This record gives sequence, C-alpha cells and structure tokens, in this order.
Amino acid sequence: MNSMKPLLLSLLTTALLSGCVTTESPTGRGQTLLFSAEQMQQMGDSSFAEMKRQQKLSKDKRQTDYVNCVARRITSVLPNQGQPWEVVLFDSEQVNAFALPGGHIGVYTGLLKVAEGPDQLATVLGHEVAHVLANHGNEQVSRAQLTGVGMQIADAALGGVGVANKDLYMSALGLGAQVGFILPFGRAQESEADAIGLELMAKAGFDPAASIALWQNMDKAGGGQGVELLSTHPSHGHRIEELQKRQAQVLPLYHASQAGVKNRCQLGK
Ligand SMILES: [Zn+2]
Repeated sequence: MNSMKPLLLSLLTTALLSGCVTTESPTGRGQTLLFSAEQMQQMGDSSFAEMKRQQKLSKDKRQTDYVNCVARRITSVLPNQGQPWEVVLFDSEQVNAFALPGGHIGVYTGLLKVAEGPDQLATVLGHEVAHVLANHGNEQVSRAQLTGVGMQIADAALGGVGVANKDLYMSALGLGAQVGFILPFGRAQESEADAIGLELMAKAGFDPAASIALWQNMDKAGGGQGVELLSTHPSHGHRIEELQKRQAQVLPLYHASQAGVKNRCQLGK
C-alpha cells in the first residue's frame, strides 16, 4: 500500500515543522517528542475507537463496575483533571491492560484472574496511566517515525485493510498510536511507570505493598501473552526489588489517603 506513505510522511513533516521537542521525563530522563499533546490525544481517541470496534466488550456488569471503580480512584488523583477517563473491560483471556492519551483505559478480563483484589488491580492501572502521564506513547511513536519502523508496520498493517472509505488522515494518526502501542516499552519507561504508578496507587488509597504480590502473580502467570505487562523488561525480580525499595517512600501517601476513601471497590460475589 504505497498510498499511505505520503500521508505518514506529511505527518512526520508536520511534526518536525511544529518542532521536535527534547524534554525531560518525570524522572529526568531525556525524551524526544515529535507530537503535540493534541496530536497524541487524537491518536489515542482513534486507536481506542478502533479497538472497541474490533474487540469483544465484556457484558459482565459486576466486573465492569469493579474495574471502573478502581480506575476512577486512580484517575481522580491525577494532576490535570479534564474530562473523565473512559474505561472499557474487554472480554479476552489476555493478561493485560493499557492506557492511551486522550483519557482511555482498556482492561482485559484475563487480568482479573491474575490481579487479586482491588489493590493489585490498582497497581496495574496506576502503571498504565503512568505511561500516559510520562508521555511514553509519544516517545514510542516518535521513535518509530524517526527510524522508519512506523512505515514498515503501516505497510504491513494496511496490506489487509481497505482504507478507501476512511478518513485517511485520521487512520494514519490512529495507526501511529497503535504502532506505539504495539512496540513494547523500554526498560527505562517500565521502571518509570512502576515508580509513578506506585505513587498514584498510594495517593488513591490502595495499599502499595500489593504491587509486590501483583508482580509475583504475574511471574507465576508466565510470559507470552500481551505486549505490555508481560514484556521481559525489567525482569519481574528486578522490578519487585525496585518496588520494595520504594515502599517506605509512598507509605505516608497511603496512610494520608485512607480517611478520604469512599469506595473500597470490592468485586463481590
Ligand atoms: Zn508498562
């Protein structure tokens, strides 16, 4: 599909003209970001819409309410309160979850078998939202554009898809976000998301100690499913060690938040 190339090129040119921003991540790591916050939002919106079209949504109201409850508490402690985040539970055995710019959270029902209880689920959602806060998607899509990986994946992905009837610009944007989502995050991004996520969950009143049990469960669940959570970097052992070191730091946040917790988000029977 050569028809897509000029679009992606023009997208890249636009991004370059509007300024390639070298900035710092929340932990002081250098980041190259080609896209504006608005562009990232558009990508997140269109990718999420596409995922909802393509994947089966859970009809389990009890589980959906539970996931929403935990997600609400996490997003309510974020610094920038815009419109409420959209939370969707997908019916799939995948042990995974993700968050996208524009305020979207996707959780797979398979994750609920590994993340035991609201505090463990909050560990995952805190981690995913942290990827968004720290602009990791922007970093990934930017890297893909700069190295041309985006083009190759675009060609492959569009080989089997008719794009004639779609808004081409939007599908290019959506594809960019999916490319960013498909490419696993790097070790530095994962550690950063763990650290920020731990703080978010503690602030939201979830027990930070559950983060250790969660990654132990993930380890037991084994690899192979989902790009995001079961990616091998950092190894679960190293990740657990880091989280243990950070416990004392976030414990005061957890204690301070307890009085304000209105809903414990139990799954119930
Ligand atoms: Zn991650």
